[in-house]
Amino acid sequence: YDDRDGFIWMDGKLVEWRQANVHILTHALHYASSVFEGERCYNGKIFKGHEHSLRLLESGRLLDMPIPYTAEEIDAAKEAVLKANGLTDAYVRAVAFRGAGDEMGVASLGNPVRLAIACWSWGAYYGDAKMKGAKLDIAKWKRPSPETIPTAAKAAGLYMICTMSKHAAMEKGCSDALFYDYRGYVAEATGANIFFVKDGEVHTPNPDCILNGITRQTVIGMLKDMQIKVHERHIKPEELADFEQCWLTGTAAEVTPVGQIGDWTFEVGDLTRRVATAYEQLVRS
Ligand code: PMP
Repeated sequence: YDDRDGFIWMDGKLVEWRQANVHILTHALHYASSVFEGERCYNGKIFKGHEHSLRLLESGRLLDMPIPYTAEEIDAAKEAVLKANGLTDAYVRAVAFRGAGDEMGVASLGNPVRLAIACWSWGAYYGDAKMKGAKLDIAKWKRPSPETIPTAAKAAGLYMICTMSKHAAMEKGCSDALFYDYRGYVAEATGANIFFVKDGEVHTPNPDCILNGITRQTVIGMLKDMQIKVHERHIKPEELADFEQCWLTGTAAEVTPVGQIGDWTFEVGDLTRRVATAYEQLVRS
């Protein structure tokens, strides 16, 4: 992704794509002092763009890493970078991090908090699985406790186990991995939240140690508008045997049906299709 034409917004200005570099002694590279957002722009408008800017600021705050911009300034920067690249349908990636500076050690109060925003064209996250139903592996790693790490932040450090789990899943021919949490409850995938259907009602994990996804919250709202009961609760792995349908939600994943988790199988049913279609209409409206 580093060798291409285009522009990236960095610390207040647009720079040439190939020049958007950082020094090797960037604090974030050594100590994961980095938070980020993934957003999608549809027909020239970022879906819930302002909510993503607010979540980025909150992630920075949770890591004791205040980002020196307002949400409105971040919104404007995203618009500017989309315009500079001539994109109306794109993925937008904002990343805030501690740069190189006065100190090179765990402490980094003297290092500036920097912000960069890139965007590029991007299709369906799970490719073919998007319609047929994705196959998920069970991750060997567990989502940690909120007493171990700030789990509400979209922080780079939380993605180390995501990369490892996704690689292991891909080696087994799966599209993604499903995490259980530190207590053993069903948690989320490496970059998406999970929903289940049983007897016409929807069940999804409590967001008490997972990312409370913006897509997750949107889909819960849509289901409530459809008069469908949504249970946000702790879900035990053995319950997977009884669920009829399953889907993932995320900015990148949108609403992706799940056909299989480990040895458990699910149908790509009516409600899954209804929710996927309603979400597609909403983001483009
Ligand atoms: N969980 C994780 C671990 C994620 O990385 C993402 C993607 N940001 C999500 C859930 C879904 O969040 P959102 O709907 O806000 O994209």
